[in-house]
Amino acid sequence: MKIVRSPAEMKNLSMMMQRSGSSVGFIPTMGALHSGHMSLLDRINDSCDFSVMSIFVNPVQFGPKEDFQKYPRPFDADCELAEKAGCDVIFAPSKEDMYPENYCTYVNVENITDGLCGASRPGHFRGVTTVVLKLFNIVMPQIACFGQKDAQQVLVIKRMVHDLNLSITIDVAPIFREESGLAMSSRNVYLSDAERAAAPLIYKGLNDGAIYYNNGVVESNALINVVTTAIGQSPLLEIEYVELVDTKKIKPVTSVTSAALIAVACRTKESRTRLIDNIVIGGTL
Ligand code: AMP
Repeated sequence: MKIVRSPAEMKNLSMMMQRSGSSVGFIPTMGALHSGHMSLLDRINDSCDFSVMSIFVNPVQFGPKEDFQKYPRPFDADCELAEKAGCDVIFAPSKEDMYPENYCTYVNVENITDGLCGASRPGHFRGVTTVVLKLFNIVMPQIACFGQKDAQQVLVIKRMVHDLNLSITIDVAPIFREESGLAMSSRNVYLSDAERAAAPLIYKGLNDGAIYYNNGVVESNALINVVTTAIGQSPLLEIEYVELVDTKKIKPVTSVTSAALIAVACRTKESRTRLIDNIVIGGTL
């Protein structure tokens, strides 16, 4: 496995691969890799000749009070894990190479970034779409894989790809979970033991919601109530939002008539860790 730091070198390498007829698949990450990330790599390795995984903790997508400084950065362990899983290239640029002095160009996907995480993290998706477009332009993949774990991110990236006429296929990987049901996340390392024990209630709630929907309940209020009740069983989980939105406009719906997302964001009481999770009902993302 090759570790590439320079955007110019990454671009050259990718161009060489394309010229030799190899398809390039891409997985953008912020590192602190876990099995969820590896499941994305497996999908890319199945569908492409050459796999590139980026590791870049993107300062532009963090708010001033968020965890940019303390975000885990176990780079050597990440490389070991990625190499074992068959990754061909780790692309890990520096902040200075990605955002040199006088940098002033940003990509903003409107409307669908207003709700859910966009409401509580102003500027977050502008940072995500900016870095992802830059990474796409450097890596030039045919396919890029994103996790359903960040469902709004998937919809925002798909919208950007469509609106800006990019020739990249977006592959969506299902949420990889711990045995307890807790969605794997690089931020789970912040959780105290008690919080870790409480956190699976989020998935339990989402699952209960899906079961109610499958049994014929389509009213949003009723479905949201089921999820909220399950999460409310632990005083360690503070709900930021539980919302039921359509997967096109990401706007709240009163009842489920087509593909919809039950999306949850919670903050834990002790470590103040932000946890997100979701389930899709009535269709796919
Ligand atoms: P991150 O490093 O958190 O920016 O995540 C990089 C990519 O991995 C994103 O597309 C995430 O949606 C995806 N991802 C993170 N956690 C999981 C998970 N538990 N299951 C599936 N994909 C995930």
